[in-house]
Amino acid sequence: MSESSSFNISASSISNWDYEADVVVAGYGIAGVSAAIEAARAGAEVLVIERSGGWGGAASMAGGFVYLGGGTPLQRALGFEDTVENMKSFMRAALGPGTDDAKIDAYCEGSVDHYNWLVDAGVVFKESFWGQPGWEPPHDDGLMYSGGENAAPFSTSISPAPRGHVPQMSGKNTGEQGGGYMLMKPLVETAQALGARAEYDLRVQSLVVESDGRVVGIGATRYGKDLYVKARRGAVLAMGSFAFNEEMVRANAPRILGRPAASIEAHDGRAIQMGQSIGAATAHMDATEVAFFCDPQLLVRGILVNGRGQRYINEDTYPGRHGQATLFHQENQAFLVIDEAAFEEGSASETSSPELLMQPTWVADNAAELEAEMGLSAGSLQATIEQYNRFAAEGTDPLLGKNPKWVKPLRGALAAIDLRGRTGGFTLGGLKTDADSRVLHVSGAPIPGLFAAGRCTSGVCAGGYASGTSLGDGSFFGRRAGISAAQQAKSRVVSRWRREPRLIDSVPSGPRFLADVKNPRLTEVNRGFTCARKGT
Ligand SMILES: Cc1cc2nc3c(=O)[nH]c(=O)nc-3n(C[C@H](O)[C@H](O)[C@H](O)COP(=O)(O)OP(=O)(O)OC[C@H]3O[C@@H](n4cnc5c(N)ncnc54)[C@H](O)[C@@H]3O)c2cc1C
Repeated sequence: MSESSSFNISASSISNWDYEADVVVAGYGIAGVSAAIEAARAGAEVLVIERSGGWGGAASMAGGFVYLGGGTPLQRALGFEDTVENMKSFMRAALGPGTDDAKIDAYCEGSVDHYNWLVDAGVVFKESFWGQPGWEPPHDDGLMYSGGENAAPFSTSISPAPRGHVPQMSGKNTGEQGGGYMLMKPLVETAQALGARAEYDLRVQSLVVESDGRVVGIGATRYGKDLYVKARRGAVLAMGSFAFNEEMVRANAPRILGRPAASIEAHDGRAIQMGQSIGAATAHMDATEVAFFCDPQLLVRGILVNGRGQRYINEDTYPGRHGQATLFHQENQAFLVIDEAAFEEGSASETSSPELLMQPTWVADNAAELEAEMGLSAGSLQATIEQYNRFAAEGTDPLLGKNPKWVKPLRGALAAIDLRGRTGGFTLGGLKTDADSRVLHVSGAPIPGLFAAGRCTSGVCAGGYASGTSLGDGSFFGRRAGISAAQQAKSRVVSRWRREPRLIDSVPSGPRFLADVKNPRLTEVNRGFTCARKGT
């Protein structure tokens, strides 16, 4: 049987397991490594299966933002006040509509602890804030606004705080000492030190399922050969998004069809299909992050107009919001109109993305000539500029609420940069999981033995996006997947513990694990597990 055509197989058809472990993690990116660490800490034997030749995934190529807040030590050290409630309010407002509030609550309430967990694992955040517009800090600064918290429409109603935490890097090269790599490296070293093993060049294809519906293993291929991996306690899917599965994108998120970005080819949706094949529910399959390929140092100094010459979003917000607004609501039609002085100032500003400091497409002596050059309807851009300038003279933007710091009338020679079609992105929807990272069946019940985290799940982002929420919720809910998977089987061990009371001679495992779980029932289960392991 060719595994590649089958998303699930019956356990009864397998006569020989090639590998086995208590917890089998599929994918060695951010969600996978986080699951591996916590499963190992919970006492499970862990095997990570990775289709490529090494760990890393998209995470190791990432800029490295991890979305954290509620008063992290880094925020406090840099003088920023933040509260859990503020963080929740912002995430609900910016990442919806339709956010999973149980996840957002857990994420925000656990955010400071998660920061400490990363630091304890060796991730370094430099006490330095980058406050300029940009996609990322150009150097190794540890903190930046990364979701539009300090811009309209959020800044007036939700007290703003920067939450984009970036691991310190020694070079910004993608995959080589960049922020994502400097996040992954210490985490992988931690997982290895805890005894988590890895098998590379092994491509997960299917779930192995018992007749009662419990997932007991994974089917995979290596150079065309079928191999089977037994998951004694649980399997964790952490294989990334479906941004590179053209068929799935066409069916679910067609607006980013042909424009995958900030993802890797391995994000082929296989984990989602495997889950669906045994009845797993999905959520927010239409949701996408959308990057906008123009440097924010230019954007903030001009006005962004659509194909009708009208402004439609404040130019000083998170550029991912520009991307979504342009692609979703303006038919991917955008132009940046800017005057000469602002263009010169923006072009000379420090940025992490100099390749996005574009040259003007059209230049003209005045608005009438410019709109004619651009092919806009006569008078449309003139009216926009006249209205913008009228209020800008007083330093205000009543239409869209751009921060007065960036509001200046457009004067003299004008230029326009053609930004039509300059968007790309990745998918945010996926398997529906609960806040303990258990994969949910369409009935609403957890599927026994199956856990998931990262971009193959629907996480804290239901529609909107902020930089850092992928590495953030991948690591946060990856940890929970590892804990839940390790602990699921513990409940079976507990009954043995009750039959064999003499085995009770130890204390529960580490306080951090127990503190994370915050659930007396799980604590009891953990105690039983720890004891029983000593007897095997
Ligand atoms: C250039 C760039 C910049 C980014 N910047 C940021 C940022 O600053 N902040 C942020 O939050 N996000 C950022 N992202 C997005 C972020 O990296 C991903 O969304 C995140 O890594 C997803 O986590 P994951 O664990 O689901 O997937 P990954 O980290 O990609 O890990 C998935 C792993 O599964 C493996 N895999 C896939 N299929 C199989 C299979 N069949 N069998 C076995 N293994 C398999 C993959 O090879 C991969 O190693 C960026 C991405 C890129 C590319």
